[in-house]
Amino acid sequence: MRDKDSLYLAAGDSAKDLIEEHALRQRAGLPGAFLDHRMLLSEYEISRAGALLSPGSADADPMQLASGLLKVAVGRGARLFEGEATAFDSAAHSVGVQMKDGYTIEARHVVLATGYVMPEIVKATVQKPSSSWAIATRPQPDNIWRDAALIWEDSKDYLYARSTKAGRIIIGGEDSDEIIEPEARDALIADKADALTKRLAALWPRAKLDIEFRWAGTFDTTSDGLPLIGPVPDHSGVYAAYGYGGNGITFSYMAAQLICGAIAGQHSPLLEDFALDRDGT
Ligand SMILES: Cc1cc2nc3c(=O)[nH]c(=O)nc-3n(C[C@H](O)[C@H](O)[C@H](O)COP(=O)(O)OP(=O)(O)OC[C@H]3O[C@@H](n4cnc5c(N)ncnc54)[C@H](O)[C@@H]3O)c2cc1C
Repeated sequence: MRDKDSLYLAAGDSAKDLIEEHALRQRAGLPGAFLDHRMLLSEYEISRAGALLSPGSADADPMQLASGLLKVAVGRGARLFEGEATAFDSAAHSVGVQMKDGYTIEARHVVLATGYVMPEIVKATVQKPSSSWAIATRPQPDNIWRDAALIWEDSKDYLYARSTKAGRIIIGGEDSDEIIEPEARDALIADKADALTKRLAALWPRAKLDIEFRWAGTFDTTSDGLPLIGPVPDHSGVYAAYGYGGNGITFSYMAAQLICGAIAGQHSPLLEDFALDRDGT
């Protein structure tokens, strides 16, 4: 895990929206600075109308992070099973989880966290899956922008750029909420990788466009931008955590806090904002 600043770039010709966003963040007490075109160019060598620079972000290798967390859980007594859950049966004091291989797992509380594929018992209407494409260059550690800040853009389907410890540049975006099926999504990898390579060249002309990896993934978004976290209505003992959008790290942490709290009998007003059966209109 590496502490990082984040750089939120203006997507169009004007930085007007970013100046408004900066004022809102200041009013909410959030730290950060507005960089105009000239400051952004001189400090980051990036040519955009402006940017918001914020402290307090971080990046990590997600595979290492996930396996590290699982190791800690196992160290504390968790048991891991690989398998596909097919049905859930809530009784008065326990929940039965039916597995595809014929076994049933019984637990006092069950937390669903199956990504963009929701089991039928979750009836959320605000949920919407979205696909995203990404590429990674070969390592070029001498060629990374200042402080390897986490770059993203002020637009709905934003472009983002990251680096890895070895100095690869990762750039992603080109999202679509229409192409979700894995086959159709993956068939677009070559075209989307070309588009992303062009966008990398425009964003960071110093980059060597030597692309080693290209991939696609699907994740869950919601129509109101808030996650779906909390008890599953009409299924006592079952909780769910979905709809993180591009904020998997932030919302998954909140989900862990809120669901542990709910199981322990604490109520947070956030559970109303994140309710699975809310009307997102
Ligand atoms: C290309 C891309 C880039 C992203 N970049 C970022 C980023 O920079 N920062 C950020 O914070 N977020 C990012 N996200 C979003 C983030 O990846 C997701 O929010 C996060 O992975 C969701 O975590 P999850 O554990 O809820 O679901 P997932 O990671 O989707 O995991 C769900 C798991 O459940 C399993 N599963 C599904 N159904 C069943 C079943 N019936 N039985 C058993 N298992 C089942 C699946 O196989 C899967 O392993 C990105 C997403 C994509 C696609």
